[in-house]
Amino acid sequence: MSTILVIGAGGVSSVAVHKMAMNPAIFGDIHLASRTKSKCDAIAASVQERTGQNVATYEIDAEEVPAMVNLIRRVQPKLVVNLALPYQDLPIMDACLEAGVDYLDTANYEPKDQAKFEYHWQWAYHDRFKDAAIMALLGSGFDPGVTSVFTMWLKKHKLKTIRRLDILDCNGGDHGQSFATNFNPEINIREVTAPARHWENGQWVETPAMSVKQGFDFEGVGPRNMYLMYHEELESLARFVPELERARFWMTFGDEYIKHLTVLQNVGMTRIDPVMYEGRPIVPLQFLKAVLPEPSSLGSTTKGKTNIGVIATGEALDGSGEQTFYIKNICDHEDAFAETGNQAVSYTTGVPAMIGSAMVLTGAWQGDGVFNIEEFDPDPFMDMLNSQGLPWTVEQLAGPVEF
Ligand code: NDP
Repeated sequence: MSTILVIGAGGVSSVAVHKMAMNPAIFGDIHLASRTKSKCDAIAASVQERTGQNVATYEIDAEEVPAMVNLIRRVQPKLVVNLALPYQDLPIMDACLEAGVDYLDTANYEPKDQAKFEYHWQWAYHDRFKDAAIMALLGSGFDPGVTSVFTMWLKKHKLKTIRRLDILDCNGGDHGQSFATNFNPEINIREVTAPARHWENGQWVETPAMSVKQGFDFEGVGPRNMYLMYHEELESLARFVPELERARFWMTFGDEYIKHLTVLQNVGMTRIDPVMYEGRPIVPLQFLKAVLPEPSSLGSTTKGKTNIGVIATGEALDGSGEQTFYIKNICDHEDAFAETGNQAVSYTTGVPAMIGSAMVLTGAWQGDGVFNIEEFDPDPFMDMLNSQGLPWTVEQLAGPVEF
């Protein structure tokens, strides 16, 4: 039983904290801190009602490193779980270094003024974490997170080498709004408006955002259009599965979403550089976030399923030549809401954040330094996916994907 400190009080944090409270043998003493304390208190009240567990709450600006260090010293957690925004990754890592405590997150660091999804800022902390004999586990959400664990499980149990990899992320949920994002709108829109990039023959191939479209029939959802995108696990997968000839990431978007996004982009509302408005600088995308629905408010109306998986082609471990496997999870928005009060996009991220935390706290995964999720044994994580609400299936396909 360990003490844990969670930072951030959005949808992902809410799910992770509920699931931690449902596993009291691992997470005995849960502390939750965020910029707005009332949001922590609302999560704590829901956790108390649903599980009977107590969660202590605090107000913190995670970008204030000395304040974070004080909070960590006061709470004395074994692990700090960063479920705030990617902008806070480095200050929270600095605070963990100073206080000598392990760190975990679900999204790589992004500077506020450029939409760059790269690990090098955080990888640069490796030697300092190693020297301090503490561990950072990066990217323990669904994608990044489970998609990399799926890949490494296939590499351990089915394929000796992986030649081609496609990650398919489908949200078949309908929230009844004409335009809303399923997680933080600012982060989501930065991600989908960035140019697409995929890994091919040892280099990155860039294409304009949303320019490569492909139909796919998703089990539990039906036929959807998916678009080639850049996603941060491609960088860690290219590093830890060096034989990959091609790795791509696809995400589904409905026609209504694309139409709204195109207009918002065309009129400049997705810009991340400040513009002057009535004598003061505002960032259009931050203003847009303020007028869009809060993702956490969509939970009660969202119906349908998510279906996220990995298709990998490579040389089979059993010597049967080239084989293709499809491994995936299907998650129901209404079931996720009934269990934790949050929709499936938060659920599919918050559950793996809890599982990654359990891996660190129980010592199933350990090391000194900064690690990506690909570097550890996938088996105990995969077992917990099955027992903690995100069951997965694996099937053999007739051949490689033809798109
Ligand atoms: P939300 O915007 O709902 O929540 C973010 C929380 O962080 C809010 O409570 C916010 O506070 C808090 N916060 C922001 N800035 C600070 C700060 N300076 N100090 C303290 N707290 C702060 O986001 P989500 O819950 O949707 O996402 C959380 C994280 O999960 C993000 O990093 C996102 O990129 C990642 N993610 C990862 C996925 C994956 O599969 N790997 C998928 C989806 C999300 P306030 O309430 O005051 O604004």
